[in-house]
Amino acid sequence: MSRLSVYWPDECDSTMAAGKNRPTILPFPRRHAVESGPRLDVIARARLLFANRRCRNCSYPVVEPLELDDAMTNSSGLEIPGTATLVGFRCQSCDAEWNV
Ligand SMILES: [Zn+2]
Repeated sequence: MSRLSVYWPDECDSTMAAGKNRPTILPFPRRHAVESGPRLDVIARARLLFANRRCRNCSYPVVEPLELDDAMTNSSGLEIPGTATLVGFRCQSCDAEWNV
């Protein structure tokens, strides 16, 4: 079992100035460092899905989005839906494919 100590900034400064045991400060990643993956443009993605909601060949209403394998993952290692790069669509009826 590990023992963690909490230092307030005033205590940390006085401890370091006195030359006592130097506290170990664990760094937390900044928010922008966590989001350094592919930029997620939700509105552009929603517009693409809406514009390609029907097959271009047969107008069938069930179209599958084709995505790259670069989706962001959550803390459990599972893909976060809607974060993969959208590259095209495939019709479920006639198997026609087209790029975005
Ligand atoms: Zn089709």
